[in-house]
Amino acid sequence: EQTAVLLDVQGLQVLYGKVEAVQSVAMQVRVGQIVTVIGPNGAGKSTMLNALAGALPPVGRQHGSVMLAGQDISILSVEQRVALGMSLVPEKRELFASMKVEDNLLLGSYRRYQAGERQYADQLSIVFDLFPRLKQRRTQLAGTLSGGERQMLALGRALMAKPALLMLDEPSLGLAPLIVKEIFHIIQRLQQTGVAILLVEQNARAALQVATYAYVLEGGLVTLEGAAAELAHDQRVIDTYLGLS
Ligand code: ATP
Repeated sequence: EQTAVLLDVQGLQVLYGKVEAVQSVAMQVRVGQIVTVIGPNGAGKSTMLNALAGALPPVGRQHGSVMLAGQDISILSVEQRVALGMSLVPEKRELFASMKVEDNLLLGSYRRYQAGERQYADQLSIVFDLFPRLKQRRTQLAGTLSGGERQMLALGRALMAKPALLMLDEPSLGLAPLIVKEIFHIIQRLQQTGVAILLVEQNARAALQVATYAYVLEGGLVTLEGAAAELAHDQRVIDTYLGLS
């Protein structure tokens, strides 16, 4: 039994000058699903996520349609997309190092606060329940956190906007294996809270384990897609993405 389509991407193309970084990608995420995008370096994964979030660098040009819960968001700003329920945790995490953990989190709810919502304390306690370590370190400066804690803070900040769809760009990048395990565990817990997740990962093995559906992006094109459990047994995927890890 399938839930409704939350994110519907059709004919997404991204050009950097004459370079076609993403070529006519079609992709769907259903309500409450974890969908993963795997592929080699330079395949266009980050470019695709940034385009979906409305956060391409100024040189980038984007074509195609991006629908969120039935609404065309293709030409909306980052802020408008966040307000409609889409949050991106970028690869570089982009925290404010000289601000406290708690203040970094509150920035994530800034738009809702502006829109007149004052109950960010509820959302903050939800985030602290998910990340007890952030609670312990709430008054510590973000710049003094470990790599894993920074990733948790980046996730927590995105959650403060109460997203329906969370887009994660390589959340395991640069983290020790134990921390990677913890991050993937948290991703599963997030799904249980009802958030849909679009997960871009180099760690194909872990990504295919948590995801329902998967896309392989190579050279800006979707070259393979299917149920994650099936892709994990596909010989091409095993040879290219699971062989050595
Ligand atoms: P990685 O995992 O290394 O980040 P990726 O799959 O996320 O790889 P992208 O970073 O999206 O790939 O890059 C896709 C293509 O677009 C690459 O050929 C890259 O060189 C190019 N590209 C990315 N950003 C820009 C930019 N700002 N200007 C020009 N070309 C870019």
